[in-house]
Amino acid sequence: MNEKRRIYNFAAGPSMLPQAVLESAAKELVSYGTSGMSVMEMSHRSACFENILQTAKQDLRDLMRIPESYDILFLQGGGTLQFSMIPINLFRGSGKADYVITGAWAEKAAAEAVKFGDIRVAASSKDRNYAYIPRLSAEDFRRDADYVYITLNNTIYGTRYPYIPDTGDIPLVCDWSSGILSEELDVTKFGLIFAGAQKNIGPAGLTIVIARRDLIGRAPENTPIYLDYKIHAANKSLYNTPPAFSIYMAGEVVKYLKKNGGVSANERRNREKAEKLYAYIDGSELYSAPAEYEDRSLMNIVFVTGDAALDKKFVAEAGEEGLAELGGHRSVGGMRASVYNAMPIEGVDALIGFMRRFETENKKRAVK
Ligand SMILES: *Cc1c(COP(=O)(O)O)cnc(C)c1O
Repeated sequence: MNEKRRIYNFAAGPSMLPQAVLESAAKELVSYGTSGMSVMEMSHRSACFENILQTAKQDLRDLMRIPESYDILFLQGGGTLQFSMIPINLFRGSGKADYVITGAWAEKAAAEAVKFGDIRVAASSKDRNYAYIPRLSAEDFRRDADYVYITLNNTIYGTRYPYIPDTGDIPLVCDWSSGILSEELDVTKFGLIFAGAQKNIGPAGLTIVIARRDLIGRAPENTPIYLDYKIHAANKSLYNTPPAFSIYMAGEVVKYLKKNGGVSANERRNREKAEKLYAYIDGSELYSAPAEYEDRSLMNIVFVTGDAALDKKFVAEAGEEGLAELGGHRSVGGMRASVYNAMPIEGVDALIGFMRRFETENKKRAVK
């Protein structure tokens, strides 16, 4: 393995994994334990793989303090399939759901849910290009809604809920694709939490759904079998062949986090990284962060120079220095540094060093 060639990858996802996990996975790649085969070659019905899967689940349960009243499902289809599975499975009474639109992912989720029920936009921050999170309370939601839907961390716009909306008795559903395990979260405040693995937990191919057990099992009779949470819950995520290698890798990452102080230590590291980067941006004359101060994401740090051509130059020159994938989402432009769990503080320091040099070299063009 050529470790010297590893660079700081600021991509929004797929993104960096802990190097220690990649290295131990490389050692086990050809023969896992005493099995004589790779996890990629292993029967998903074997005792060996079942142990990998159940350990990954239990470690995640321990790390996030997920009570037994919640099921953990390991699925495929990405966050995107959850945009459909959620309305299919969670409409069980009025057929109404309230969505909070804080960005493109919430828009997509709502557009999918409209196919299955009566969707109302409870609030939207589109008026200011999603640069903030609306402040909501129980009165903002329809009392008979089957669920309320939010996107806890907005990957594209770099915002994050600094609070958990009070929805009263209505189950709160949350897309945490770009935030899972990055900080402490009280799972019991939610009816369902889902996340694609490829940003904070592991390789693409695995989607994690954490759902209150009493919400599972209400899908209509004609629901396609893979789309019914009940099937996956009853079969402990082994109804069909799961994304075995992705589950193994996610399990290794979770184990690694557990060994390194759990979620609270991880949150401390993530806060340190984000605060350092924001502090530099706030103090600079060239860069600014469009997201509202209190609503800033810890994971996706969006910033601009105010000059699209200069932004482009920044991204290109940073890439040449091994600071990769710093371009903002195509719908926003500017820059975005995704500093997920596995991004070391050294990566943030290297980025700030580059930003400082770039600022000096391009100061005259500052338009802050
Ligand atoms: C990346 C992302 C998604 C989409 O995930 P896929 O796994 O590509 O379907 C959904 N929601 C959020 C918040 C994301 O960041």
